[in-house]
Amino acid sequence: MAFDLDMIKKVYDRYSTRVAAARKATGKHLTLTEKILYAHLSEGDAQKAFARGVDYVDFAPDRVAMQDATAQMALLQFMQAGRPQVAVPSTVHCDHLIQAKVGADADLKTAKDVNMEVYDFLASVSDKYGIGFWKPGAGIIHQVVLENYAFPGGMMIGTDSHTPNAGGLGMIAIGVGGADACDVMAGLPWELKFPKLIGVKLTGKLSGWTSAKDVILKVAGILTVKGGTGAIVEYFGEGARSLSATGKGTICNMGAEIGATTSIFGYDEKAAAYLSGTKRADIAELANAIKEHLTGDDEVYANPEQYFDEVIEINLDELEPHVNGPFTPDLAWPISKFAQAVKENNWPTKLEVGLIGSCTNSSYEDITRSASIAKQATDKHLTTKAEFTITPGSELVRYTVERDGYLGTFESMGGVVLANACGPCIGQWARHTDDPTRRNSIITSFNRNFAKRQDGNPNTHAFVASPEIVTAFVIAGDLTFNPLTDTLTNDKGEQVKFDEPVGIEMPIKGYAVEDAGYQAPAEDGSQVSVLVDPKSSRLQLLEPFTAWEGTDITGLKLLIKAKGKCTTDHISMAGPWLKFRGHLDNISNNMLIGAINYFNNTADSVKNELTGEYGPVPATQRDYKAHGIGSIVVGDENYGEGSSREHAAMEPRHLGVRAILVKSFARIHETNLKKQGMLGITFADSNDYDKIQEDDIFDIVGLTSFTPDKQLTVVLHHKDGSQESFQVNHTYNAQQIEWFKAGGALNIIRRQMAS
Ligand code: SF4
Repeated sequence: MAFDLDMIKKVYDRYSTRVAAARKATGKHLTLTEKILYAHLSEGDAQKAFARGVDYVDFAPDRVAMQDATAQMALLQFMQAGRPQVAVPSTVHCDHLIQAKVGADADLKTAKDVNMEVYDFLASVSDKYGIGFWKPGAGIIHQVVLENYAFPGGMMIGTDSHTPNAGGLGMIAIGVGGADACDVMAGLPWELKFPKLIGVKLTGKLSGWTSAKDVILKVAGILTVKGGTGAIVEYFGEGARSLSATGKGTICNMGAEIGATTSIFGYDEKAAAYLSGTKRADIAELANAIKEHLTGDDEVYANPEQYFDEVIEINLDELEPHVNGPFTPDLAWPISKFAQAVKENNWPTKLEVGLIGSCTNSSYEDITRSASIAKQATDKHLTTKAEFTITPGSELVRYTVERDGYLGTFESMGGVVLANACGPCIGQWARHTDDPTRRNSIITSFNRNFAKRQDGNPNTHAFVASPEIVTAFVIAGDLTFNPLTDTLTNDKGEQVKFDEPVGIEMPIKGYAVEDAGYQAPAEDGSQVSVLVDPKSSRLQLLEPFTAWEGTDITGLKLLIKAKGKCTTDHISMAGPWLKFRGHLDNISNNMLIGAINYFNNTADSVKNELTGEYGPVPATQRDYKAHGIGSIVVGDENYGEGSSREHAAMEPRHLGVRAILVKSFARIHETNLKKQGMLGITFADSNDYDKIQEDDIFDIVGLTSFTPDKQLTVVLHHKDGSQESFQVNHTYNAQQIEWFKAGGALNIIRRQMAS
């Protein structure tokens, strides 16, 4: 599990020169975000980077972290690169596939049985390629990263949206798709549009019932779920320095809910204390030596309006505890207004379940503050009214809080401790309910509360609050209760009131764990075999895609002319298909089944030109493939928008689609297509979309002189024997043209590794 001290030293060695160069080039003082980004630019891109929000820039992240669901395809692809080891320190975390049903031990055992082939694959591929492997039960990716790998001033990408959690320790940590993780592990740079900057100045100090969670619940209310899009949120001020490192992690984690690229706090004494408390005092020592680079310049924080694109100020002295929801995390209610909102909106007042923990809120501080409320249930003779679950974020935290008696406190007031895993947070929750059609309320200390997120039930109204507020609500069982002001009737008929929660930032006896659940990779993995059962329906080793044949591509059938919106979800649907995410051939049976066919306004019904029959898109394409016939997909504007999903680019490639011709691409999907060796082209005149007829045969001409900025030509052979042609644009640079020719970026890396 050892963190890589040498790697951190190398990163810190760059800081002085990079920050000085950035100051010189910009002629201005720098935010912390700018310092970290400049320190991680790939060579040659420094000048381009200085214009914020303008262009994409190449970065060299220090680490990669992957959760078990998204790691599968990322690692199957990485195997194609032919490298003996990953290029940067990387880890895999088995957290998303464990279903919460009865409690930690039984649920973990079931998950190990059900997911054995996936875990065996991830363990063996990690062992072979130098990747740290965190077994099922070890904890949730972001909590484990914060405890073991996050370091101030570092840069990390992770295949999960709440990767920004590591910003609590001053790391730029960004959630990405599996294709990006594969690139960085394979040694390629990683590109990001240089972000805009939002500054959040925190004044005052938290007290009483208010916690770090309430800062981000308040920010979500101000910025809404879209307000952080394309921006990095940097927190600063005396209030920021007063927060624990884990509290900062909570705030950064939930920055994903405002759409932010990531969020970050500067390095300070709290960060140093947490590093030391988690046995990383040597990192704190290194960080102390360059600490002026691990925070924004004084002048920036004195006049933030001059340096940030937007500035928000929050006074922690005045901040109330918040409850956000239902159905969206930005519907923010100060606790004093919440009961009224529940009544006015006719939300179910009876609370059925309260859930604390998750990657967002399961620090020692969170648990101790919640336990101080839970203990009052026993001490004040209160009977807990709602169900209560506790999800520890890691085995380190779980073991420590059990040792210190806090899990016992929860259990004695009716709490059920679940496995150290995502469980209910990601819908892996076999909720016990007598009537799923009943409108009902739950409250969690998680981050997301969109409809159906936790239990798949659209009738569930999910609210989000701090763990201590959730605990108080669980005891009251009523959402119109205000734990700060109201009393409850206890078992003796007395009126009792909660005392304010009290917490301990870090364990006085120190953190402890017996078995953290970590498997170190083999020193030399060359003899390790990657375990994939050839008969598996969930996993399939990939074959390299074939190289371009060296000629123009002719005789293509039209697979589908998609009409209107065609997102990555239309191209590769999620939901039940996700169980096949490690099996390219099986998941390809969802290819484009959500896209609307222009010619019949129907989804998943296209004409098979070989039979004249209409049928599902994947089956039709498989028929063309079986006959050795290529095809083309035609699309509308912003084709491939939505979450970066590598399957949306891999499936057409796997099934033999040769080109995607659209009015415009969503950029990330366009890049993903290029990486897979696909031809992604756009109409020079978008009116040419109207020329495409259902029975057309396509030629793509000009590929033998394929060069940047030079148009290609598409020739249409209509069914009536007529023919017409038009120009198409592309955005391939010289390197991407090589990817196309080689049949994919990984084919080039493999060739380079072999030479
Ligand atoms: S606990 Fe929830 S938010 Fe955190 S990584 Fe798991 S699913 Fe994502």
